Order: sequence, then structure tokens, then C-alpha cells
Amino acid sequence: MSNQTITIHDFEFQLICEYFSQVERQGPGSPEMTIKAASFIDNMNPDSKIVDLGCGTGGQTMILAQNLPGNITGIDLFPKFIDIFNNNSKQLALEERVKGVTGSMDNLPFKEEELDLIWSEGAIYNIGFERGLKEWRKYLKKGGYIAVSEASWFTPDRPSEIEAFWMNSYDQIDTIPNKVMQMQSAGYVPVATFIIPENCWTDHFYVPQSEAQRKFLEKYRGERKAEMLIEEMIFEEKMYNTYKEFYGYVFYIGKRI
Ligand code: SAH
Repeated sequence: MSNQTITIHDFEFQLICEYFSQVERQGPGSPEMTIKAASFIDNMNPDSKIVDLGCGTGGQTMILAQNLPGNITGIDLFPKFIDIFNNNSKQLALEERVKGVTGSMDNLPFKEEELDLIWSEGAIYNIGFERGLKEWRKYLKKGGYIAVSEASWFTPDRPSEIEAFWMNSYDQIDTIPNKVMQMQSAGYVPVATFIIPENCWTDHFYVPQSEAQRKFLEKYRGERKAEMLIEEMIFEEKMYNTYKEFYGYVFYIGKRI
């Protein structure tokens, strides 16, 4: 029984990984928004130590590297994403200062006060916003920065269908003022907060997925797990199109006190 469970999970894990390996981004965002968020970070130099947690295949990491000095370590749980990441880094001749390693954001291989900047786009939800901010703080130097994007409500109230959808997928979604307060309580001065625009979800996230979905369904025709994964992705996109005025991703940038 337990072996069977492992096999099923492993299959799902492989599928999700394969599906998302086909696209440049594994979460909503854009080069413009990465550059905008980076514009709030100062005091970086070629010796600065930067990490990108839940880096995926590194779409945003490479943009960051092209816009800030310093050495960047990308960390992701999926080894295949890290392989693609390191390939991308090489292609862009960034491999001397941008390296991907497999690892988990809840068990980081850094020393206390070692880092100048912690970056994480669309990934801190894996550990939870408040827990991530609190646990990662010790790795930052005093005056170091954290920049994360996180699902947030835009209004105090919203329709029950979208509320239920989020409670089921990530119940720590919260309003922007509450997220800013959580950042402050975790020991950071909030430096900037901005909503990433709709094209980060459409042009940079859902549009590239439709081709990936077509190819994926062709390959796995009749495989229920694979079809379910695509159904879920399509449903998620439908939710976004219907309720985008009520939620989105927000960049939160803070400076460690
Ligand atoms: N930052 C990328 C990817 C976001 S998707 C982008 O914006 O495109 C979330 C990523 O978090 C995935 O790549 C997933 O593999 C990774 N992830 C999930 N759990 C993780 C964990 N515990 N530690 C590190 N990475 C994790």
C-alpha cells in the first residue's frame, strides 16, 4: 500500500514537473516587474550574496542577474527545474555568478546573517508567507532585503466562489494591509508594495501554457492523472479571468531591521 502511494505521488510529481518544464515561468510575473522590484534594492555590489527561493527554471533569476550585481544561488525542490536553470545560466554566460541547486526553502544551507538579498517570486506560499518571512530573516544581514510576490486580496470582501477556491488552495491569502503588517511584525521595514499587472498572468503565464497543454494531452491521452492536471490548470485560469478584480499577486519588498 505504502509503495503504491509513493508510486502515485511520484507519477504526479513527474507530471507536474514535466508540464511546467515546458514553459518559461512557473508562476505569474514578468521581466518588467522583476526589474521594477529590483529597482528598490540598493547597496548591492559584485560580492553580494543573493538567493532566489523556489526559483523554478530561473526565468526571473536571469533577469535579476542582468539587473543587479552579486552572486545568485537559485534553490528549487525539483531537480529537473534546476537542470534547466543551470542550462539557461550557461546559455546567457552567467554561470560564474548564477548557480542553481536542488533544495528546500524550509531547510536552507546558509549561515546566519550571510545574505544580502532573498528573492522569491510566486513561491513563498509553499512554506507560508509569515513562516517564510520569519524563518528566512536570520539568514539576512542587518539592512539586507527581502522581495517576494504573494497572492493577495484586493478588496475586504469577495464572492464566495473565489473565496472557497483560495481557501482550498492557499488559505493564507490575505489583504494587502494585512500582508504588509505581517512583514513588519516579522522584523522588516516595508520598502515597497505593488500589484503586478494582468499581463503577468495572461501573456507571461496562461498564454504560454495553452501550447504546453496541447502537447501534454497529446502525449498522455487517456491518462487520468495527466488529464486532471490540465483540467485543474484550465479551471485556475477560468477563476482568474472571472475574479481578477478581487485578487492577484503583489510584490512585497522589505528591509531587515
Ligand atoms: N519563481 C518561479 C517559480 C514559481 S512556482 C517563477 O516565478 O516562475 C513555485 C516553485 O516553488 C516551483 O518551481 C516549485 O518547484 C518550487 N517549490 C515548491 N516547494 C518548494 C520547497 N519546499 N523548496 C523550494 N522550492 C519549492
